[in-house]
Amino acid sequence: MADGSPGFKFRETQLEYARHVTEALNDGAVLTLEAGTGTGKTQGYLIPVMEYLRLNPDVRVMISTYTKSLQDQIYSREIPRTVELERDYREIAVALLKGKSNYLCAEKLNSAFEEDLKGVQLLTWLYFAHLIFLFRQADGETVGERVGRYLNVSPYFRQLQSEISAKTGCTGSHFLCPAQVALAEARSAHVVITNHHKLALIDLDEELSGLFRNFIIDEANHFEQAVRNAFRLAVNSREIMDIVAYLELALQRISRKAAGEVETAIGQCYELLSEFQQAIQIFGNVLRTIFPASTKGEILELPTSHVAYPDGDIEKVLRLFADLLKTLVRSLSFLKDPDTSRALRILPRSQERIKNALSRLFVEAENFLLLEKTIRSENMVAACQLYSRHWLLMVHAVDVSGLIQRHVYNKRDCVVYTSATLRQRNRFDDFCKIVGMDCPDGERATSASKEDEQPVLLDREKRAFRFAALPSPFSREAMKMILPKRAVNGSYENKQVWLKSVADLLPELIRQGNRFGLVLFSSYADLEAVALQTGDEIVANGFPLLIQTIGQPTGNLIDEFRLIKESVLFGVDTFWYGVDFQGDTLTQVIITRIPFPFPFDPLQIARKKMLPAKEFWNRYYYEAMIKLKQGIGRLIRSENDRGRVVFLDSRCRHFEELWH
Ligand code: SF4
Repeated sequence: MADGSPGFKFRETQLEYARHVTEALNDGAVLTLEAGTGTGKTQGYLIPVMEYLRLNPDVRVMISTYTKSLQDQIYSREIPRTVELERDYREIAVALLKGKSNYLCAEKLNSAFEEDLKGVQLLTWLYFAHLIFLFRQADGETVGERVGRYLNVSPYFRQLQSEISAKTGCTGSHFLCPAQVALAEARSAHVVITNHHKLALIDLDEELSGLFRNFIIDEANHFEQAVRNAFRLAVNSREIMDIVAYLELALQRISRKAAGEVETAIGQCYELLSEFQQAIQIFGNVLRTIFPASTKGEILELPTSHVAYPDGDIEKVLRLFADLLKTLVRSLSFLKDPDTSRALRILPRSQERIKNALSRLFVEAENFLLLEKTIRSENMVAACQLYSRHWLLMVHAVDVSGLIQRHVYNKRDCVVYTSATLRQRNRFDDFCKIVGMDCPDGERATSASKEDEQPVLLDREKRAFRFAALPSPFSREAMKMILPKRAVNGSYENKQVWLKSVADLLPELIRQGNRFGLVLFSSYADLEAVALQTGDEIVANGFPLLIQTIGQPTGNLIDEFRLIKESVLFGVDTFWYGVDFQGDTLTQVIITRIPFPFPFDPLQIARKKMLPAKEFWNRYYYEAMIKLKQGIGRLIRSENDRGRVVFLDSRCRHFEELWH
């Protein structure tokens, strides 16, 4: 590759990386491979995978990543480069597969068309039609970022997007449907690029289960969270209310033409719809009573028993919602009857749409029942989020190692976990525990739930767990690490003092850096507080300030940061791990506070109850350490990069491995 492709350079560590992957594929091992930035991980596993498939044409490999940008990069840039190496690789079919919720259903979109659509609603409909047409090149995020800002303000955009998702209710087999095309391609491909979520659920996919016996899990430090989300149960009152609102509208239109028994049935349905809407509102108020000081979207631990619930238990509430929804679906099902539809002159398109709405309501009723069944289960945590007009309830696993044992190692030949950051204090033990593997020193994997303790699934006697760590080829000299003397403790108790210190130091540091700077925050609340205190001064000093906002796509922000010299970017979440600014686009990373997990996050609270104190705190530090390393890793992305990392939280000095 180094001989033939410009920009490639032979690297000993990349060769070693590829050797580990090759051996794992040949031996059917579970390999955990940490490799520092610049090793060339992607080609380091792609070349062995392609070669393995060339020699074993009946085998299939699934590659998953956490970020969509890496999936696109592998599919559009890296695989074509690998294929150039060897003529036979052209025979290896490769497919990109997203979760079903990423695809839109053309049939449902067709049903959602109304003759009287106009203005923003008509544009929204056309926008989704365009997305379906361009499904290979664009999705809701890429195109949505440009036009979404305009369309997204209308509630119709969100309603239609959720209504036409291909995730549920597919009754057809339209062969030009994007979801069907992608699935057919994945079924016949030798290599499938997908996300962690899809990979974790692959055994539950009727079409793809059993086809892929080899997994490469890139960005493996995010795998645990992705598995947790994949198996999460949730209900969102806004989505349900959107369906209910549509049915109410449909009834209004129909009722003008109804008479006799049908008119009476419609009247009863109105009452049920109104009863359900009231129940949703009342429960929102109950949650507001329980959490009077909660902030918008904050993830809160949902009590399973509380005096504010009817009869004191959450199960009763969940069952009530399920019963109400099922009664609604039953009462409205007369609309599915072809004779009634004809008599009421319901257009076939609207008939389809009503059917679809009813089946979505039925799924929501089942979701309430599933929540009821699992909410007190061992190893499960219940949480909620409150917004001004809606709420979310969710239940997810605390320890996902059992799920990973069952759904990842079981029936698999080879699994490769890889990332730049998996170890703490040079050991893989924490990662092993998280993903349910035996530790390198022989400690056996355990699982939180008794149900998960099925050693046969791990096939321990035969299964080889292997571990390797390869250093980054980049020189440590390229990066200076600085902890200013004036930096103070960033603990929650010291927040005001810390905030003042950051506000004092930040403008000065940006002036000194004098070029592109990335400022990383551990929460939006921190970002907003610091932006409020320093934003004007930074801009007045001549540094354009770019600020990430909750829920907004980051693509434009990243492009602007690359384009505008001397700009400063304030970022949370994805900016710690999901961005790659090479060259002089980034010369300074400022880490404002150690990214410890939020201590009042229901997951942390549940984990604290489940684990011995020492284990809990070790895990707590592990998460912060991995994120810190990821943040630091944003700075040096290529051989010629130079710059500095500045910490504004004095507790960083205790993270010894950062300084050696
Ligand atoms: S195959 Fe299913 S998801 Fe695709 S357009 Fe038809 S109904 Fe919709």
